Amino acid sequence: MKVSGVFFAKLCSVALLLMASPLSAKEYFIDTQQAFKEISTGLQPGDVIVLKNGTWQDFEILLHANGTKDAPIHLTAETRGRVILSGQSNLRLAGRHLLVSGLVFRDGYTPSSAVIEFRRNKDEFAYHSRVTEVVIDNYNNPDKQESDYWVAMYGQHNRFDHSHLVGKRNKGVTVAVRLNHENSQQNHHQIDHNYFGYRPTFGSNGGETLRIGTSHFSLTDSYTLVENNYFEQTNGEVEIISVKSGKNTLRGNVFYEAQGTLTMRHGNGNLIEKNVFIGNGVPHTGGIRIINKDQIVRNNYLEGLTGYRFGSGFTVMNGVPDSPINRYHQVDNARIENNTFVNVRHIQLAAGSDAERSAVPVNSYFKNNLIVNDDGQQPFTLFDDVSGIEFSGNVANTQAPDAIKAGINTQAMTLQRNKNGLLSSSARKIGAEPNLQVVSKAETGVTWYPKTPALLPFDSGRVIQVEAGAEALVKAIESAQSGDILMLSPGQYDIPRLIPVSKTLTIKGAQEKGTTLTYERSALFEIRDGGSLKLDELNISGEASPDAAGNAVVRTQKWGMVENYRLQVLNSYIKDLDINHSFHFFVTGKGAFADEITLQNNAFINVTGDILRLDTEIEDLGIYNAEYVNLQDNLFEDVQGALLKLYRGGTDESTFGPHLLASGNEIINVGDGKRNKTQASLYLHGVQVADLLNNQWFSSAPVKIEHTVGEPKTRITENTFIETPAPAIAELRVKGPHTAIVSDNQYDARP
Ligand code: CA
Repeated sequence: MKVSGVFFAKLCSVALLLMASPLSAKEYFIDTQQAFKEISTGLQPGDVIVLKNGTWQDFEILLHANGTKDAPIHLTAETRGRVILSGQSNLRLAGRHLLVSGLVFRDGYTPSSAVIEFRRNKDEFAYHSRVTEVVIDNYNNPDKQESDYWVAMYGQHNRFDHSHLVGKRNKGVTVAVRLNHENSQQNHHQIDHNYFGYRPTFGSNGGETLRIGTSHFSLTDSYTLVENNYFEQTNGEVEIISVKSGKNTLRGNVFYEAQGTLTMRHGNGNLIEKNVFIGNGVPHTGGIRIINKDQIVRNNYLEGLTGYRFGSGFTVMNGVPDSPINRYHQVDNARIENNTFVNVRHIQLAAGSDAERSAVPVNSYFKNNLIVNDDGQQPFTLFDDVSGIEFSGNVANTQAPDAIKAGINTQAMTLQRNKNGLLSSSARKIGAEPNLQVVSKAETGVTWYPKTPALLPFDSGRVIQVEAGAEALVKAIESAQSGDILMLSPGQYDIPRLIPVSKTLTIKGAQEKGTTLTYERSALFEIRDGGSLKLDELNISGEASPDAAGNAVVRTQKWGMVENYRLQVLNSYIKDLDINHSFHFFVTGKGAFADEITLQNNAFINVTGDILRLDTEIEDLGIYNAEYVNLQDNLFEDVQGALLKLYRGGTDESTFGPHLLASGNEIINVGDGKRNKTQASLYLHGVQVADLLNNQWFSSAPVKIEHTVGEPKTRITENTFIETPAPAIAELRVKGPHTAIVSDNQYDARP
């Protein structure tokens, strides 16, 4: 494995520090929590505390001492990566010149408000201290809505670097710089060379990866440097980084397939330069969003970003006149220059313009930027008057809108791919520097902990043949590994118990020859933490289910799921979910969140409940149950409930979803049951993107769609509605006619 220059230099500097230690400095080898407690009160400059290798359970470490610049106090691991802090463990630092390295937090969660915090309590902070080469891996509170930080920086002149943070799933910012005390302001902290790995879609506000300040202290300067970090698929919410203070520098960071943007939400005078955003066309990948005064955005490189609205590749916002501190301050003196935008689908100016956000950008410029879109579509949208942004010296391969085209020279261009992987034009001084330094993933985080892929795909493991019969199936599921495919022999499977799914599994039958499952509990499968389920070519019947209301074929665990899951049901025949009323195909538990639910090429026939029930988050807190729902080429016939209830309440605008795609489905006699309170065959509330294309409704209840916030995109085209009322679409938050596109549908409302 390649050892980076920076890493090597750091090792040398640690070695030098140790050599420079005073003669009185001691090295303590600690093997119990009690032993640590005993030495922790008398630590002297230059002391080294070595934690014994192994798993430490419920260890709340407080390093409260004062080293010196030449002789810091160092807490480390016997072997880096082999000291595991689990259960309810955490780390607090207070004092001066402290150094912590080599620890791993996993298999548990912090009992306090942070896993690592640079303070002892609300008055005692750390200064000139450093945490380096630590790992925090899926160290999540089991209650996903319980908020905590993984790293909370307080005090001044602290550094957090070369660390590996992956899999934050509960609420709360991954790394927070706190300014809520004058001793934490003008802090000059440094956050560098960290690897921020996969952070799944959180499903409401509170999923930022890095936040610097809060709105309350946003007019305070922070002077935090965020440099050479790698953000890979940090998808938590629309803000990957939320800058909420002044005079920060964010430089040389890489954002790889990361959904969301670097947002200057509050605070003035920030410098954003030499960052690289690579979206690879992944949905909702974004770039930079500008709000407030005196922001400099220069020499950044953005490629393959698909995001729109506040999640666009590039956004300059409108402000609120005389804005309260927590709303949107006007953009004033934004200096945007020498950035490269390649295949950035949306550049949105004066974005968010509405009755409240009416203060357009002023005293700003946009110059010497390079804009290239291979598809020939120009990326700009102007939502208001943009004459306060002076355009000059820009070059694009597409025509720009009239209001700004005087400052954008349109010409055909050929770009070359440089050694650093970035494209540049031969035109001098246009776009980002061709030789921009791009930090590699390997240079970030630690060398001794693997940067594993975010998600294990279905069907990535072994194929396991299962003989017909319930016992063999239950055994095979228990012993399967994540990613495996269980191939079920033709025959009858009468399952006497609930099957928990806590790994990624495919269960595949041979439908033509008949692989039929019945079951005797209130559900057949229950998806639990770590589980994802794909069902393919199965016949499933509810005929042996208990004679009680509220059965389901698949459900998630009823409460407290922390990990997102995926569910795919393909090529299957599901029938006779009718032994009692309210028999659903799928029911989500409260707090559960699906990255994806796909039903494709199935038949669902004779069901007394709903097909997909994704409506448990009824408190209108901006939380919802599924990011992507795909319904393609299914037959739904004689379903008393709805084929989908998808509910996303609240007014928060931090999320991208839910998304629905329904195409090619045949919907016959669906939604008219007397217990179906929505009286809809398909009910959507607060869904952000809904495409209903080429479906056929017969003798069914209407589609009902309720738009709330976030400028939802609904398109209903090329459907047929026979003996079915036309879709009912309502705007619940915005005045005026609904914004859905409803076109090219056929209606035949026979009497
Ligand atoms: Ca946010």
